[in-house]
Amino acid sequence: MRAIDIIIKKRDHEELSRGEIEFFIQGFNNGDIPDYQAAAWAMAVLLNGMTPRETTDLTLALANSGEMLDCTVAVPVAVDKHSTGGVGDKTTLVVQPLVAACGLPVGKISGRGLGFSGGTLDKLESIPGCRVDLNTEEFLGQLGSVGVVLTGQTADLAPADGKLYALRDVTGTVQSIPLIASSVMSKKIAGGATAILLDVKVGSGAFMKTIPEARQLAELMVEIAEGSGRRAVALLSDMNQPLGRAVGNALEVREAISTLQNDGPEDFVEHCLVVTAHMLALGDQVPNAEEGRKSAENALASGAAWEKFKQLIEFQGGDISYLEHPDRLPSAPLIKTVNSPQSGYLSRIDARTVGETSVDLGAGRAKKSDDIDHAVGIEVLPNVGDYVDKEQPLFVVHANSQERMEAATKRLLGALTYSEQRVEPLPLFYEVIGSKPA
Ligand code: URA
Repeated sequence: MRAIDIIIKKRDHEELSRGEIEFFIQGFNNGDIPDYQAAAWAMAVLLNGMTPRETTDLTLALANSGEMLDCTVAVPVAVDKHSTGGVGDKTTLVVQPLVAACGLPVGKISGRGLGFSGGTLDKLESIPGCRVDLNTEEFLGQLGSVGVVLTGQTADLAPADGKLYALRDVTGTVQSIPLIASSVMSKKIAGGATAILLDVKVGSGAFMKTIPEARQLAELMVEIAEGSGRRAVALLSDMNQPLGRAVGNALEVREAISTLQNDGPEDFVEHCLVVTAHMLALGDQVPNAEEGRKSAENALASGAAWEKFKQLIEFQGGDISYLEHPDRLPSAPLIKTVNSPQSGYLSRIDARTVGETSVDLGAGRAKKSDDIDHAVGIEVLPNVGDYVDKEQPLFVVHANSQERMEAATKRLLGALTYSEQRVEPLPLFYEVIGSKPA
């Protein structure tokens, strides 16, 4: 077999066999196939697509390129959750302890923020001492004993995906639905997941801007799960406005804490309850998502989820006095409230602009190697559909310099659109797509 023949076949719209896909991915991973051939192949895939069968074979080839975790040594059903990334999306911090408090152990391998979307590892690192570099033994040990674990990806998990993603990033080949679906699912499968809840974000602050695009990605990921002997449910959730109030690492940890203490923003609480309900159903902990919701509500109200979160952080070396006194978490030297310049209904609070402003304040990175400031960020006070009076507070900006504060204030006001007419609130979810009906 030769790499060039596989590239030509894809260029000419032909379907690749499993053997050809495995040969290509193995060759690329071990260095026999050079970057320029892999880049040409990725571009051919982007332009000509892949069938669901080819995409499933690609997913498994990427997953099999390194270590494959077997979580069933620690748990009966290994349930995982994946969000395609958004602004203010601190869902994992609440949902993982909530699911575990309902009796279903959950281990998750999370990522860092990149671009305008945040990452769970950066949020966790706002808590002094909290480790996010557990090895496989520690991961499985904690999953068995505490029932909840949150850590970063080891270099050995789906390494071919890491290499291919880096290449796609610089060759204009990220925006391909089969390549995104296989990249995401390969990491879930290598991480040992047997049932996967996919939170597919749609809107201005997400990879997928439209519902048809998000639906296509969600359906493909569910099909890959089924084709590889796993189960998945995908929720299409709104990312036109930020989720909850807080955007920025320590601010989001504070919001997760208040949510776990039954004092979270309504939209974020509802989002977490729905995600948890589906995870419990996927993990066979309850017969359906309705029952899952009741369990989730109880575990939140009783304080069991909050206790689980403290246990999780303590086990990973974090100082839980910061959770009990969240005012001690990193805080910015400059904090300013931005008031509304006019009155009216808010018809747009653009998630992407808020996410980019947060990155500009220092909460995110432009490049993987950039340092971040855990203290800075934005609190977004109203929701789309709210009526605001002139001079009513809209945002609280947490900045580390006057210059950044001023730039952020200007940019945030540009994220808003006002209407004189009444505006409907945005839905939290658009669709549920899945292999196990709720
Ligand atoms: N996230 C991933 O893990 N892979 C992609 O290709 C895009 C987003």
